[in-house]
Amino acid sequence: MSQVDIFSKHAAGSKGTERAPMPTQPPEERVKNFREVSLGYSPETARREASRCLQCRHRPCTKGCPVGIDIPGFVRLVAEGDFAGAAAVIRQDNTLPAVCGRVCPQEVQCESLCVLGRKGQPVAIGNLERFAADWERENREDAASKPVSVNGKKKGKVAVVGSGPAGLTAAAELNRLGYGVTIFEALHTPGGVLAYGIPEFRLPKDILAHEFKELERQGVELRTNVLIGSTLTVDDLFAQGFQAVFLGTGAGLPNLLGIPGEDLNGVYTANEFLTRVNLMKAYLYPQVDTPLYLGKRVVVIGGGNTAMDAARTAVRLGSEVMVVYRRSRENLPARREEVLHAEEEGVEFRFLASPIAIRGDEQGWVEAIQCVNMELGEPTENGRQGVKPIAGSEHWLPADSVIVAIGQGPNPIISRTTPGLETGLHGVLKVAPETFMTTREGVFAAGDIITGGATVIKAMGGGKKAAQAIDRYLRHKNSRLIGQSIGEV
Ligand code: FAD
Ligand code: SF4
Ligand code: SF4
Repeated sequence: MSQVDIFSKHAAGSKGTERAPMPTQPPEERVKNFREVSLGYSPETARREASRCLQCRHRPCTKGCPVGIDIPGFVRLVAEGDFAGAAAVIRQDNTLPAVCGRVCPQEVQCESLCVLGRKGQPVAIGNLERFAADWERENREDAASKPVSVNGKKKGKVAVVGSGPAGLTAAAELNRLGYGVTIFEALHTPGGVLAYGIPEFRLPKDILAHEFKELERQGVELRTNVLIGSTLTVDDLFAQGFQAVFLGTGAGLPNLLGIPGEDLNGVYTANEFLTRVNLMKAYLYPQVDTPLYLGKRVVVIGGGNTAMDAARTAVRLGSEVMVVYRRSRENLPARREEVLHAEEEGVEFRFLASPIAIRGDEQGWVEAIQCVNMELGEPTENGRQGVKPIAGSEHWLPADSVIVAIGQGPNPIISRTTPGLETGLHGVLKVAPETFMTTREGVFAAGDIITGGATVIKAMGGGKKAAQAIDRYLRHKNSRLIGQSIGEV
């Protein structure tokens, strides 16, 4: 069928067509394993779903994508069966399509602006992006872009600190622009939250490994186990000949509840818990060295993606899990799909309740958590609905462990050890809006380190823009230096 045939046919019939559902592992099976829950579209389903797209000339969906992917362009190619072409279109703007297709909050980004969503269901843009990226990975080893250098020489050396979505995207873009790039990562495994936070059942780690292999194949150097601010400072990096430094160190420092009993055994921050399971493979203990005690009843505090990941991971480790969230269901910040999957897997939710104390047994292990009921109030300054405790509604819930998932902030190690770096509210780094340069010349930053906890695609969008700003800065600086040396001659 030609392209015209596909679109004239579906444009006439699309209003009545249903969005293709994403096949998943049945809940009763998936709670027993860590394999990916969503199974992906088949080529036939992907083509059928793609052919619902109306190919809107003004591309409203693209405006909802923080990296501006040509959505109608790639969706059209999927509908035509040109999957390699579709993946190539996506890769022009997105280095990690297989990741974003899985974890982007599409329902509030690209898909929220799809015209089909006005009266029915939007095109499943994220599922199609995932399909094209998976097809490319499984079918074409040499698919991604080739290394780019100027006249065979690199333009200069740039250090990228942190290998999460911001650092990885900045590194790929700087490499494409012709710079020699070294990534410095504190952990032994690259990927940031994609590696240590988001569990295998949402984002298989071989996908990440493939992306890093590709980046290294293109010439980017990766140095793990280097904590900048301790092993080396930012000043050491300049002394080693790096002409600019990009900081993509994220927001990995967990917020705490600040309530009595938070230091008891069996209280974990979600970061620690997820790192132990995802990175240190604690679920294989005693075959691995990382123990993890959860017990039968686990209470997770919070309502974001991190809380859902912690709750669903605890279910897979055999516990009964309750999520305690201080606002109502409608206010849950987690992706809708994550909440649905959590409920299917048996996670219980307790809305409008907030923890006020944790009680321990004689050995110092958690045995119960005290909560107070909350009521919704007026919207606050940041637009979210306010909440206040209801006097006299305090009550105890039995718990063998508690996982705290109430947000994260930036780790201050780099700002403390780098003269000239200024921080703003909650410790985020201050940057100039267009140039992403921090208050220290030659040091740039993007991702969660400048926004606080946000999303993968926003961190990637920031990393890409910062890389382009570094290129402008270095070209300007180097042309000034050349001008000066000609003047001196
Ligand atoms: P990070 O991903 O945090 O990466 C920072 C990297 O820098 C880390 O590897 C860290 O080890 C390294 N680093 C830190 N300090 C140093 C140092 N001093 N020296 C060297 N290296 C250093 N977003 C979504 O869009 N969808 C989701 O479904 C989603 N789920 C999430 C689930 C969890 C559990 C969490 C915690 C977050 C989730 N997010 C999600 C948010 C998203 O993952 C982040 O917004 C994103 O990863 C930020 O990217 P980043 O590159 O700025 O930082
Ligand atoms: Fe949508 Fe995210 Fe893909 Fe952009 S990267 S098109 S927001 S799923
Ligand atoms: Fe297709 Fe929806 Fe984008 Fe229109 S808005 S081009 S229907 S994906």
